[in-house]
Amino acid sequence: MQYLLKPCALLLLLLTVFSAYSTTTQLTATQKLVVPKNIIYVIGDGMGPAYTSAYRYFNDDPSTKMVEQTIFDKLLVGMSSTYPDDDTYVTDSAAAATALATSHKTYNGAIAVTKEQQPLTTLLEQAKAAGKTTAVIVTSQINHATPASFLAHNEHRRNYDEIADSYLTNLINGQPVADIMLGGGKRYFIRDDTDLTHGFIEHGYQYIDDIDQLNQLTRIPALGLFADKGLAPALGSKHPTRLMTMTDKALQLVSSRKQPFVMMVEASQIDWCGHSNDISCAMAEMDDLAKTVRLIKAYIDTHPDTLLVMTADHSTGGLSLGRAGTYQWQGQALKQVTMMPNDIAQKMLRSEQPLVFWQQTTQLPLTKEQKLQLTETIMTAKAQKRPQKYLTKALKHLIDTATYTGWTTSGHDAVDVQVFAYGKGYEAFIGHQDNTGIAATIMQMIDQ
Ligand code: MG
Ligand code: ZN
Repeated sequence: MQYLLKPCALLLLLLTVFSAYSTTTQLTATQKLVVPKNIIYVIGDGMGPAYTSAYRYFNDDPSTKMVEQTIFDKLLVGMSSTYPDDDTYVTDSAAAATALATSHKTYNGAIAVTKEQQPLTTLLEQAKAAGKTTAVIVTSQINHATPASFLAHNEHRRNYDEIADSYLTNLINGQPVADIMLGGGKRYFIRDDTDLTHGFIEHGYQYIDDIDQLNQLTRIPALGLFADKGLAPALGSKHPTRLMTMTDKALQLVSSRKQPFVMMVEASQIDWCGHSNDISCAMAEMDDLAKTVRLIKAYIDTHPDTLLVMTADHSTGGLSLGRAGTYQWQGQALKQVTMMPNDIAQKMLRSEQPLVFWQQTTQLPLTKEQKLQLTETIMTAKAQKRPQKYLTKALKHLIDTATYTGWTTSGHDAVDVQVFAYGKGYEAFIGHQDNTGIAATIMQMIDQ
């Protein structure tokens, strides 16, 4: 007994000393925390490190020996783990967004609720309650997993109608959580049983449903729903830089109000390209995000009391820049691909000269063997139940082979993601941390 007590007493002493020490360091950390007035939180859905590397080589100027740095290279400050509170290290976008929005881990599929399905306060709710202007800008439907985890609480991400409904019932001081919402999702807001846009108009929102009408938004609050579900993909779109366009408008609106603001901007569709293992789609989404981040950086250069924090929720597709033992990645060739493979397939199936059409829209050369193979694939496709789907898959494979691009999964993977930061208080995000840590720091900043 006596023998046992001694180490216990020693342990107690050590614990006391240690807890006093850690309290002191925490306090110092709090005192040192540089608090920005405005926070712009950017999420590249599915944007693992291979995507930012790919974007660098995709953009490389072939006339110079040097590989030019991208905006992502310039703003990189750290890495983050993404695992959920589940029986797996691979997260989905809901659990990851909940971690990034609330600083709590949860199960895959959860929208800002605990494992016991209790609501978790999100940083946009916290910002709104503190009287700051809040904004959400996405290229998915605005009730999709990532934005939903900042604005609502639901046991499952697939309850799209319920989540849309809760944007009008989850109120802070009588108002919806986000003062500005721009993205897609019309079909969930305007339904046979209800038209939620009326509810927003009653709350004083200006509402538009066409991205070409953005200049009609003149004040806050504002709601813009620009597609039934997600916005059209960047590649081959009339609006290849729609995320940048929407973010630009949101920055104009929040600046006119002069109140502190917290804005969440999501490049939602990098993930969708990753799920469909489509590298040309992914590079077009990365290009829209890069232009958006350059715009935000320029804003911060003239509004130095603003912080940009950017990360990804996870990586998608197991993208690899190299394939089948060959020491090559020919990403620059993707610059000539001007249409989504799905659309190329549709046009090729209707074309008299499908191989000529392929050549015109991709500039990717075909060997004699590949030409024969592709002609055969088109014939096989035409005999299928879903010819376009069949041909699209073959075209993506051709693009991957030509560029030496590899994929290991149609889902997500557990690789760490990067953290980028710029502007006032960026130092707080340097190093390796868990995704919950990013949110914890932002919430601490909003609290001050
Ligand atoms: Mg998302
Ligand atoms: Zn995903």
